[in-house]
Amino acid sequence: MSFDIKRQDTICALSTAHGYGALAIVRASGPLAYEILSKSFRKKQGTIRPARALYGDIVDHHNEVIDEVMALYFAGTKSFSGEDSFEIHCHGNQLIVEQILQRLCALGARLAQPGEFSMRAVLNGKIDLAQAESILDLIHAQSSAAHKAALTGVRGGLRDKTLATHQAIIHMLAEIEARMDFPDEDLGSYDKTHLVATLDESMRILSDLLANAPHALRLHEGARVVICGKPNAGKSTLLNQLCGEDRAIVHETAGTTRDVIEARMLLKDIPLTLVDVAGIREIDAAGHIEKIGIERALYELNRAHIVLWLADCTLSDPFSDPLIVERLKDLDAPIIRVLNKVELMANRAKDVENCLLISAREGLGIADLKATLYQYLVGKESLTQEMFITRARQRDEIKAAYNHLVEAKGAILEGWADEVVTAELRASGLAFDRLFGTTLSEDVLDKIFSEFCIGK
Ligand code: GDP
Repeated sequence: MSFDIKRQDTICALSTAHGYGALAIVRASGPLAYEILSKSFRKKQGTIRPARALYGDIVDHHNEVIDEVMALYFAGTKSFSGEDSFEIHCHGNQLIVEQILQRLCALGARLAQPGEFSMRAVLNGKIDLAQAESILDLIHAQSSAAHKAALTGVRGGLRDKTLATHQAIIHMLAEIEARMDFPDEDLGSYDKTHLVATLDESMRILSDLLANAPHALRLHEGARVVICGKPNAGKSTLLNQLCGEDRAIVHETAGTTRDVIEARMLLKDIPLTLVDVAGIREIDAAGHIEKIGIERALYELNRAHIVLWLADCTLSDPFSDPLIVERLKDLDAPIIRVLNKVELMANRAKDVENCLLISAREGLGIADLKATLYQYLVGKESLTQEMFITRARQRDEIKAAYNHLVEAKGAILEGWADEVVTAELRASGLAFDRLFGTTLSEDVLDKIFSEFCIGK
């Protein structure tokens, strides 16, 4: 169904979380909003007016009361979605919510798809696409830094930060194209030095933004850290030590961790999923259950952002296991070698190179391990600035805009035809349009908003 047809519908959904609670909010948006509210809501007093909370009853088609509620109506562009809409604050029981939604649908609304309210807000120009993404980030923020970055985004931080650059690109384009389109006007040649200086400044702003992207992306997307190593290396003990709870079973018999165990923790401001996988052994040599665990271990290794290779320092040549070396050699993720149980053989442990020394059981070296992990995840930038990029999509568009500016500058300095310069500038401008959702195809928007929850 195309956007235009979809947007003629009036949509409704539960906007608060499912389950029982004091209150729930049902929301509706679209051309029939006022009519549907007038028919389903019996106010105790007053008239339905924009942005006024009214106390009354929601009634079914027999005029039977479904619930006592507060109703809020928003007219046209003065709503979140940019169209007529209303909210019903009812009691937080799914039975009530279901009946209200059924009533609204019977009066002409349909159930909203995920993110459809936000998508309408973007299509109606109430917010840009980056702001819409930040709303989602705000809902899912797991640390105060993630919350802060998302709030900056909701308030249009990324657009404000890039507005001058975007305008400068349009201005440069106009300058050059005017001379190409009207050669007889005797506009003189454009000022190349000024143009290059403007490009440099624009590139500086964009590269500053990109410098913080790895950290900002990790705030929202988190990371998977896989702990691998031979059975009995201390993987479960390390997982428990890192996340501070007895999540994994720790046992002396090799092969106790038969399946993959996950635990979540916050490493400063970054949500981590720690994955403790079965010991890596020859598949044929393992029992059937363990074999499945080992296959899953390999699957987990391939989707890890970082691998901790844990080895037991009481073994001779602890990082030489050919099977593990073979499994890890083609991984994209960085591998941190960690030598465990060092309290048993502190002197010998020091001879092993390129590894962190820990005692998972005694908690030794854990702070250093966390600091190293954090540095791997965030990069070495000193992060003092506010964060504006919170999505890989946003980073990729800013990077595209930046790269086209680099090409434009190169074309100017190397004396290429003006058409080459303008093509690069235009491509850079288009990246901004995609970034803020002004020129995106329906499927791209559909894909982006499908991540949203229903009712948002
Ligand atoms: P996994 O098979 O790699 O998950 O290993 P576990 O975490 O189950 O640990 C295997 C054995 O090593 C258990 O008896 C642990 O108590 C012991 N262990 C783990 N970490 C340490 C450590 O730092 N020092 C010592 N001495 N023993 C440890």
